[in-house]
Amino acid sequence: MNSIFKRITYLTLLFLLFLINQSCNKNDIIPGGNTTENTRGGIALTFDDNYIDNWYPYIDLFDSLGVKATFYISNYNKLNAAQKNKLQKIKDHGHEIAFHSTNHVNFLKCVDSTNVDRLMKEEITHGLHLLNKDGFYPTTFAYPYGKHNDILDKLLLKHFKSLRALNGTQDLSRSLVSLKNNKLLFGLGIDETSNRNLSKIEGLLYLAQQTNRCAVLLVHNIERQDMKMQIPLWKLKEILLRAKSLNLKFYTISEISK
Ligand SMILES: [Zn+2]
Repeated sequence: MNSIFKRITYLTLLFLLFLINQSCNKNDIIPGGNTTENTRGGIALTFDDNYIDNWYPYIDLFDSLGVKATFYISNYNKLNAAQKNKLQKIKDHGHEIAFHSTNHVNFLKCVDSTNVDRLMKEEITHGLHLLNKDGFYPTTFAYPYGKHNDILDKLLLKHFKSLRALNGTQDLSRSLVSLKNNKLLFGLGIDETSNRNLSKIEGLLYLAQQTNRCAVLLVHNIERQDMKMQIPLWKLKEILLRAKSLNLKFYTISEISK
């Protein structure tokens, strides 16, 4: 009886040591990186516009790879009920639903030709209201076509935690951002229209890991034959798998904007 009791005590102790070890490991040094969970370099994968039907079938793939993405929605008023349901499901899987204006106009052109109040009312307040009515509360914004200026930035930062414009240069590192408090981010387009080869994108991911920063990438569609604003599935998978092998963390934009 006594030896059985000793054995149970010994096994309980072993189990407790195992639990303590597991909880310590969470914040330990991560192989391949050189920092802790909360300051680990990462990737913020963003999707633009309202291609819900295209994105939705890939949610299981994202789940299987632990991907958390940000979906910047424009033209919400053009979505039907089924598409709105799909968007809700995307959100339920832990992705961020962000805002990309009501009608996807070029804000710079509108600021020139109309007054700013009207632009804000039509392109921000109105569209946000429609999303809010259906339970979506975006806290981050992406400029249509990446067009912006300082005046717009100042105005829009009253409504949103951060604004995403576009990289638009050959300097990919411009799309590497800090892991917190971002206000203005420059996303790197990786659709076929961008003509970026895989090795350059992978190089950026490596840099994100080495510098503990976050690479902000932008996609419109996945695997479409009928348009160029898409990334082939094989290429997206390669990028996601490379991010995993570099032990990068998937951040939503709101996570790196606070
Ligand atoms: Zn857009």
